[in-house]
Amino acid sequence: LLLFSRSELGSDGLLSVDDGRLQHLLEVHGKEVGDTVRIGEINGRMGHGKVLSINTEVAVLEPTLDQLPPAKLPLILVLALPRPKMLRRILRAVAEFGVAELHLINSLRVEKSFWQTPVLDPDTIREYLLQGLEQSRDTVLPPVSCHRRFKPFVEDLLPDLVRGRQSLLAHPGNYPPCPRSTDSGTLLVVGPEGGFIPYEVAKLEAAGCKTVSLGPRILRVENAVTSLLGRLL
Ligand code: SAM
Repeated sequence: LLLFSRSELGSDGLLSVDDGRLQHLLEVHGKEVGDTVRIGEINGRMGHGKVLSINTEVAVLEPTLDQLPPAKLPLILVLALPRPKMLRRILRAVAEFGVAELHLINSLRVEKSFWQTPVLDPDTIREYLLQGLEQSRDTVLPPVSCHRRFKPFVEDLLPDLVRGRQSLLAHPGNYPPCPRSTDSGTLLVVGPEGGFIPYEVAKLEAAGCKTVSLGPRILRVENAVTSLLGRLL
């Protein structure tokens, strides 16, 4: 899916595509005049663009936007901030799986330097989310928020997010298995590489999260996230 923002449309309603996206059209898809390209307006409708002209500098597409994007998963992911490399992959996965909201939180075992990463720049977050949306043929950017203090998030915000939802804390140990999703929606909490400390587990449970396990193997954060999202699809 080729995603564009409304501001990219010309006054004639046509979409001009250049640089990397043009390269993709030419080299990966071998598009020519008269072909159609699957396109979507960011946070809007999807459809196709008819190639009116194309050369090595620019392609001009005539958009027809007649489809709604797919529904999001009724799922809120609360994730202890991972290292930047992993965060990039998880941002793509979050958009790809159709997670409705992402909350990045602090925890004792989140390295302080992770909060300084340029990946947390809103434009960079958007860039990785767009990659996931393009992959999964969706247009709607999920909101991402950062909570640099664990206690205020868990005490003041989490109870509202938990209310009316199945709320799960994934934590290795002898806990019940992670259930499937429910119609009321799910909130899922995943910890840092070193795991949540007992105090944090107790606070998350006091806010209404039920601790569940994925079995005896300790999974890397990104594998835990994607396998949990797979269960909750
Ligand atoms: N040493 C840490 C511990 O024992 O908690 C391991 C943390 S694990 C690498 C990172 C996160 O992935 C965990 O905090 C948890 O949210 C999730 N996770 C990994 N394996 C899991 C499992 N078997 N069951 C439930 N959650 C798991």
